[in-house]
Amino acid sequence: MHFTDLGLSADILRAVSEQGYDTPTPIQAQAIPVVLQGHDLMAAAQTGTGKTAGFTLPVLQLLSNRPAPSRTKPRVLVLTPTRELAAQVEDSVRTYGKYLPLKSAVIYGGVGMAPQTKALRSGVDIIVATPGRLLDHVGEKNVDLSGIEIFILDEADRMLDMGFIHDIRRVTALLPKKKQTLMFSATFSDEIRTLASSYLHNPQQVEV
Ligand code: AMP
Repeated sequence: MHFTDLGLSADILRAVSEQGYDTPTPIQAQAIPVVLQGHDLMAAAQTGTGKTAGFTLPVLQLLSNRPAPSRTKPRVLVLTPTRELAAQVEDSVRTYGKYLPLKSAVIYGGVGMAPQTKALRSGVDIIVATPGRLLDHVGEKNVDLSGIEIFILDEADRMLDMGFIHDIRRVTALLPKKKQTLMFSATFSDEIRTLASSYLHNPQQVEV
């Protein structure tokens, strides 16, 4: 299996090949086609498996396939448990999307609001965020989540462990009903299954 077999555009493949990758990891080989087909996904994958590219690559592809319905509202939201992970994921979005006309922003707490406010208000396609600070920006009307087409919950088990369930519920209440949802978790606990059953519609499951 080669990246060129997965249905990704030349602009995305060029960015992948510049990273020196030519063979998809098992999670990438399984998740990319499922996401490209528009299915919801429940994936059990640890950090280090290549899971970030497993959702970033097909999401970038889906965005570039569809014309933006609005220039002002973000279309993809990734929630992560920590600022470090948020920064890493947004870095991947920038790396793999470097030849695409898409803008992203990373949003987390512990730093000033102002630069994030400026970024959000200038208009972004993709937001990678920790939940609390994202809700602060929603409260300040710096961002409107009603145009989200794809929602990704990364490291969902850690989000639950860190007590983010209420924030997750507040965020998801602001998203459109009709959207594609992807959930990544290192484990498939009962709690994760319950969360998955409330957010995912006919999900495809991938386990590596
Ligand atoms: P992740 O599990 O997303 O945190 O990724 C773990 C590491 O694997 C990151 O440093 C990626 O840059 C790297 N990586 C992702 N996809 C591939 C691939 N197909 N081949 C080799 N390395 C990869």
